[in-house]
Amino acid sequence: MNRDRSRAEAPAAAQELPFQHRARKRFGQNFLHDAQVIDRIVRAIRPAPGQTVIEIGPGQGALTTPLLTACGALTVIEIDRDLAGQLRQRHAGEPAFTLVEGDVLDQDFAAMAAGLGNLRIVGNLPYNISTPLLFHLLKQRAFIHDMVFMLQREVVERLAAAPDSEAYGRLSVMMQYHCAVEPLFNVPPGAFTPAPKVDSAVVRLTPHRPSPFPPVDEGLFGKLVKAAFSQRRKTLRNTLKPLFPAPRLEQLPVDLQQRAETLGVSDYVRLAGILEQCGPVE
Ligand code: SAM
Repeated sequence: MNRDRSRAEAPAAAQELPFQHRARKRFGQNFLHDAQVIDRIVRAIRPAPGQTVIEIGPGQGALTTPLLTACGALTVIEIDRDLAGQLRQRHAGEPAFTLVEGDVLDQDFAAMAAGLGNLRIVGNLPYNISTPLLFHLLKQRAFIHDMVFMLQREVVERLAAAPDSEAYGRLSVMMQYHCAVEPLFNVPPGAFTPAPKVDSAVVRLTPHRPSPFPPVDEGLFGKLVKAAFSQRRKTLRNTLKPLFPAPRLEQLPVDLQQRAETLGVSDYVRLAGILEQCGPVE
């Protein structure tokens, strides 16, 4: 991924917004303007005083102001220097407001949670980085109480998908292994400026505590799920062959003629446990 995201943007990709800000496509900028949708998201978050709330991508502050009012303290992470500057000015002298200017993918949430307790992370996310961002957050889930995000509707469907559906894949298995996934409501393109080309949806992700699954080596679990879904049309015999010694492969407690989307999260957990016992295959 190109982590050196410059501020420069081609005029063709920019649209006029209040405060003379030009929406930057490269930062996934679609700003919420619909007061009812904003209110519904804030009510879904249910912010309360004393909680440690982090907003990813505050932009022009559509969610920021109501969140700050409700929880009394808020940290926001914004990559766009112009928007960060506007927010800094607007909230100057408010000790309850903390602005981190930078890339959310570089943030160490463990350090943010230190001494404060587990984090509530929220935001209308930049859709162009949503998958790497979700994986970045999963790695730091030990420090996260819950997350409420606006995402592309198609991504929310993938997060919540059940086996044997088209939307079910690596993202579904990895997220559902670590979190309870609760799709909340859909949001049409007209709620944003500029309007995105896709529908959006709000989802709540709550890291399991305790996990309903037996513990497995997470590295092996991730490797297994990645391999299984690497070629969706291939059978499990083909996709899992590189991971298991040949005799062990044939003894796996699954139908190897099936494809990856037929297995549930607990099946993958069971296979990861067997993989752990087998040791690495060269
Ligand atoms: N919260 C605002 C709203 O709802 O109107 C803006 C949402 S907009 C979809 C996404 C925001 O995330 C933008 O403000 C954008 O500049 C910011 N952003 C994009 N990439 C980012 C990154 N890597 N780190 C932090 N913020 C980012």
